[in-house]
Amino acid sequence: MPSTNLTLMWEPQLESMERSELESLQLQRLSETVQRAYHQVPHYRNLFEENAIAPDSIQSIQDIRKLPFTVKDHFRQNYPYGMFAVPMRDIVRIHSSSGTTGKPTVVGYTRRDLDTWSTLIARLLSASNVTADDVIQIAFGYGLFTGGFGLHYGAEKVGASVIPISSGNTQKQLMIMKDYLTTALICTPSYAMFLAEAMEQAGIRREDLRLRTGLFGGEPWTDQMRRQIEERFNIHATDNYGLSEVMGPGVACECLEKKGMHINEDHFYPEIIDPVSGEVLPLGEMGELVLTTLTREALPVIRYRTRDMTRLIPEPCACGRSFLRMEKPSGRSDDMLIIRGVNVFPTQIEEVLCSIEGCEPHYKLVVDRQGSLDVLEVLVEVNEHLFFDEMKKQNALVKRIQQEIRSMVGVSATVKLVEKKTLERFEGKSKRVVDKRIQHPAQG
Ligand SMILES: [Zn+2]
Repeated sequence: MPSTNLTLMWEPQLESMERSELESLQLQRLSETVQRAYHQVPHYRNLFEENAIAPDSIQSIQDIRKLPFTVKDHFRQNYPYGMFAVPMRDIVRIHSSSGTTGKPTVVGYTRRDLDTWSTLIARLLSASNVTADDVIQIAFGYGLFTGGFGLHYGAEKVGASVIPISSGNTQKQLMIMKDYLTTALICTPSYAMFLAEAMEQAGIRREDLRLRTGLFGGEPWTDQMRRQIEERFNIHATDNYGLSEVMGPGVACECLEKKGMHINEDHFYPEIIDPVSGEVLPLGEMGELVLTTLTREALPVIRYRTRDMTRLIPEPCACGRSFLRMEKPSGRSDDMLIIRGVNVFPTQIEEVLCSIEGCEPHYKLVVDRQGSLDVLEVLVEVNEHLFFDEMKKQNALVKRIQQEIRSMVGVSATVKLVEKKTLERFEGKSKRVVDKRIQHPAQG
């Protein structure tokens, strides 16, 4: 693997600007955004009036805390174009989310929005040292999903040779990767893993490819998965973050330090809140990410609750960028359980289980209330060989899982080992939590 961590910047004067300079730029852009939202979008005008907020009450960046949150439901209530701040003749592109429940979220872009978007993608690619010398294979779906087209124009902007193959058709992906001398791969991390397996089955060795970097996003993944992808393709793999409500990919991206994703703070203002109280948390604490667009023309979005749980990293990065970094999201605030006053994410339990040999990543969490006390039970599958082992070994394993859960999440749990393949399997979104407290609420 190439050893240098030196990373290019597409707009070094902006990406490494002084924090004080950045803050005054953010304030100026925030006031413009609030004015535009108030005067052009009835939804915001009504919301501001209900909360007795005048659009010119933003005098400092801290004043953003006076503004109400925007949630996904607001997009649905204003379906399809009610959140747009410009007339349709100024909209040049429309994307929308898949909308697994209810109506999809519809987003629009002006010509300037598209130009900003491709610039932010150019930053993202440069952060992984992708240049005009690269051949980029974009295996994200081209269509209403923001991934394909989002990356496409930024890739052309840096001058790379772009192969818009879109998603699917794995054999063709491999043929093209080899024959067209692809150097950079863009797709979801799970598809990269799938491609790696198909490559091995097809007898293609990593030495047969020119691939040197991969930019993966669109879904959560672990550092363990990153190491596997890097090893199997012999590449640098970086993470990036975005969501269609505020733009699409390009909101935040990793540099080659690979220690969190730099948020493009001149275009998006990040806050971390307590998902229950809505209070803004001090810098560095874990909570829900809230984003405000600072330059969007077609669709200004104020304090959008992403539901992604993360923390902002205040320490400066060795790459020289001054923008704050965010950690890989560790779960969704919708999935959060409050057990004896402690916030617990099923993904934290999963992480503990994945780190213990003999445990399978199949588990079920049962939360109940005994008297006034919340109790957590964790059912976990173990491989046959362990299951039929002597009691002593089983007890030792149970004890170890209990200890690790207590040190990771801060609550004690009872652990029960179950035989392999006894817990339900899920094709789509898994339902691994049973909260019995909902049926038996606390007495008194
Ligand atoms: Zn960096």
